Amino acid sequence: MAGNVSSKPPRPEGPSNEPETALETARRQLARAGSQIDISDNVLERLDHPAKVTEVTVPVERDDGSVDVFTGFRAQHDSVRGPYKGGLRFHPDVTRDECVGLSMWMTWKCAVMDIPFGGAKGGVVVDPKSLSEDERERLTRRFTQEIRDVIGPTRDIPAPDMGTDSQAMAWIMDAYSMQQGETIPGVVTGKPPSVGGSYGREEAPGHSVAIVTRETCEYYDMPLEETTVAVQGFGSVGANAARKLEEWGATVVAISDVNGAIYEPNGIDVASIPAHDEEPEAVTSTADDVIPNDELLELDVDVLIPAAVGNVITKANVDDIQADLVIEGANGPTTFAAAAILEERGIPVVPDILANAGGVTVSYFEWLQDINRRAWSLEEVTAELEAEMVTAWNAVRSEVESRDVSWRDGAYIVALSRIAEAHEVRGLWP
Ligand code: GLU
Repeated sequence: MAGNVSSKPPRPEGPSNEPETALETARRQLARAGSQIDISDNVLERLDHPAKVTEVTVPVERDDGSVDVFTGFRAQHDSVRGPYKGGLRFHPDVTRDECVGLSMWMTWKCAVMDIPFGGAKGGVVVDPKSLSEDERERLTRRFTQEIRDVIGPTRDIPAPDMGTDSQAMAWIMDAYSMQQGETIPGVVTGKPPSVGGSYGREEAPGHSVAIVTRETCEYYDMPLEETTVAVQGFGSVGANAARKLEEWGATVVAISDVNGAIYEPNGIDVASIPAHDEEPEAVTSTADDVIPNDELLELDVDVLIPAAVGNVITKANVDDIQADLVIEGANGPTTFAAAAILEERGIPVVPDILANAGGVTVSYFEWLQDINRRAWSLEEVTAELEAEMVTAWNAVRSEVESRDVSWRDGAYIVALSRIAEAHEVRGLWP
């Protein structure tokens, strides 16, 4: 029916045509999870659509005096459990649909962690490497102004994602605060600690990936001291996960950056290699032997952690995955079709919405610190993150065991049950 947002193409349940956008993957995952629990079709239908997508144009004066206009989005998916929450990415591949799909994953991620936020995601279609520092600042401030009406500390709280960092969050906080006429640190998380950022926020997504890997390895009787790990991506998530796992006794045998991967069967001294934000592309710049990034995914390791970009495990390479366990560090690294094949092959995949949820969890701690005007020590943050991650992992494990489902299904069941209950008790207005 024309104009009815409910009209949509059928979504096959099993492996099907690829490539998939983040939105297609998110919708297929939702349909699958919805079929596994007792949830109202009305709530499922609501969750299949974002509440609001804001599209803006962002004019930026380049250093040479010319003006370029960029496109930006903020997708707000669901806020039944609290303010919208999620990152902002600066990347040339950003699209409206990608933002919507990623905003759905944020809704589930916050619910699986039981933190009182909904889901959002935004971005600007730009290659941040093509901008000078001053241009990046002007773009960030003007984008903040364009989305000012839809964000706020009790409305929608952005955070870093691909291509954005703590400096960008400080500019957002400043631009928003200047317009409001008062300093409002709680409008954004992932800021530097000097302006209300939390200690431990930068390391948190990678740290949670390591905690989830540790718990899952223990569950499958894989002692970390005897476990080999390959990590794709050496940005904030990959580097911090690799460093933590090495500290806890695992042998990290492969890591990568955008130019390729290094593989050392006896283990890499990951602590000595700078992460992407410390020195871009440091993994391959001093290496003698570099293997293609695709080969890292197919190494015969115990644990594979894709922690770079989305859609890297697809129908094309899933049969060549040799790892015994996959922990998703990136958002959406496994396509829906590939996930079904890994399940058939008996390879457990612990999903992004649980594994990298340490980022948004420490964002929540940061927001609490901001609204209470009281900073926590790194020790407090670390202890709270550890406790929250183990609690969430246990809630998912319990569904995996009692319903005999995959880890992704278990995580979706935990998240969707909480969201559905909130929708039922609030009801539909008017
Ligand atoms: N961008 C991160 C994510 O995908 C963090 C979001 C946040 O802290 O709000 O989980």
